Amino acid sequence: MDQLHQDTITELRKHIGDASILTLRCPLDHGKHDATPHDDATLGSLCALPTELRHLVFSFLDIRSLLVFRRVSKLAMSLVNAMTEYHKVVTNTPDALRMAIAIRVHHQYTISELFDALCTRKCADCGTLTQYLDVFRLRRVCLSLNGFCQGLRPSVQVSAEHRRFRILRPIMEQIYGNVDAALDRLPTFTPIPGRYSAERRFGHGGVGFHDNLTTSFLCFDPNGVPQFEAALSVHTATTFRTTAELNGIMRKSMSLVIAPWLDSKNMGSASGVQCSICAHTYDIKRKSCQARTDTKEGWEEIMNLKICELWPEEGLAEHMRDAHGAEL
Ligand SMILES: [Zn+2]
Ligand SMILES: [Zn+2]
Repeated sequence: MDQLHQDTITELRKHIGDASILTLRCPLDHGKHDATPHDDATLGSLCALPTELRHLVFSFLDIRSLLVFRRVSKLAMSLVNAMTEYHKVVTNTPDALRMAIAIRVHHQYTISELFDALCTRKCADCGTLTQYLDVFRLRRVCLSLNGFCQGLRPSVQVSAEHRRFRILRPIMEQIYGNVDAALDRLPTFTPIPGRYSAERRFGHGGVGFHDNLTTSFLCFDPNGVPQFEAALSVHTATTFRTTAELNGIMRKSMSLVIAPWLDSKNMGSASGVQCSICAHTYDIKRKSCQARTDTKEGWEEIMNLKICELWPEEGLAEHMRDAHGAEL
């Protein structure tokens, strides 16, 4: 089972950003944090409260404020470290916290909200089991498209220096008038700088959709923007639908981490496993599609492949038996 878990993580990693960059950018301070806080700082009137009430107070703080408070003193640090939800997140899935800090969204929710999202197991759009967490929108999502997962429209990039902004700017102006003021109000994130590519998902067989992002990029969530769909369809009526969807997957992957399923009742976590036979079949199909990515049909076929289908550990044997007549 360990090998299966390892293979599954390896497969899941192929479709999102490099986790080592995340570790490098946000090392967190665990293990060596004792040196930073001041020993003599006190917590003021918070000291008067019993632990449970203190934790209740902390649970209302957004994560950025909680981490700022945590650095005040050794006492503050130990109090935050002792919060069950903080402890479970940091122990089981530090990457979720790292990503929230790295893309600058950790002021948008509390540690309890992050924890609750980590306790879910299914794609919020299509209901399939998934190990990806969208740290921007705080929901589980899969990276399938079309027939498998229609989903919400992925975040959209805006940046003054970006070519695609030439299309977006008039749309946003049409809707809001003052674009910069609107962007201040909309939920946004700044992706980790680097090269993002849809090829990551499809292998290197076809047309490449990629973007080189810098820190000046901003992505916003267009799902709550009134008339965005209508305005976009007017502006992009002539573009190839699949191109838009490919760019969509690429953007969707920018704010994802692989995170195990947490449990509200205990310290443990669980994760899904791939069926090796299904994964092998997918690989063969993908290779055959890659040869045809110069055609619209080829792209559509590749987009319809279900990737990284997960099974709960206890359900895999049954799937193997039912679907393939094989024993685990
Ligand atoms: Zn889905
Ligand atoms: Zn299978």
